[in-house]
Amino acid sequence: MSIFKNATFYTTVNHLKDLPPTRAEVAFVGRSNAGKSSAINTLANRTRLAFVSKTPGRTQHINFFDLGSERFMVDLPGYGYAEVPEAVRAHWVQLLGRYLQTRESLIGLIMIMDSRRPLLELDRQMLAFFRNSDRPVHILLSKSDKLSRNEQQQTLSMVKRELADYPHVSIQLFSSLKKTGTEEVEKVVTQWFAAMEEDPDTE
Ligand code: GDP
Repeated sequence: MSIFKNATFYTTVNHLKDLPPTRAEVAFVGRSNAGKSSAINTLANRTRLAFVSKTPGRTQHINFFDLGSERFMVDLPGYGYAEVPEAVRAHWVQLLGRYLQTRESLIGLIMIMDSRRPLLELDRQMLAFFRNSDRPVHILLSKSDKLSRNEQQQTLSMVKRELADYPHVSIQLFSSLKKTGTEEVEKVVTQWFAAMEEDPDTE
């Protein structure tokens, strides 16, 4: 049974001060349009758990989903949305940074990057924010169906090479359209929760 399959909507917050207390959560982060909502829906095997939406207002919400057994999944606002003013974008980057650096119950981060444009500046900034947390990042190179098999392998190798020095990082190809890569993500996240439950003090 996949860890994401029983996900139910839990709550939405707009401010860090309103984050609900949780024991353990994994967060999904990515540039606006990277395919984050599609990935969440694919993993949960639902069509509209996370809203595939292009309205800037929506990008400000932090959505929590209950996975059962005191485990949560967090859909963070997409960054880099082109059509909001620079000041608003900067504000959200700072907010995401604070969440990534201070959220105690965050046990691991899933980062979604379009496999045709991985590791853009804001992606690198998010990784930098999270680097000292000593917690793992798992990267989904999304929309991999848009690349040839050769290009997929080249991109995967390139991103692995670029992040060779990053502590606790793993990287995979993913396609919501073809539903490929889901088992790999499920395995990683299941291990994160299991490790935390075995040894809660180290997380
Ligand atoms: P978000 O802004 O990161 O939540 O991105 P969305 O999930 O809303 O996806 C952005 C766009 O990319 C939408 O038009 C999706 O249909 C498309 N998309 C998402 N995942 C895939 C995929 O795996 N393959 C293809 N070909 N398109 C995708």
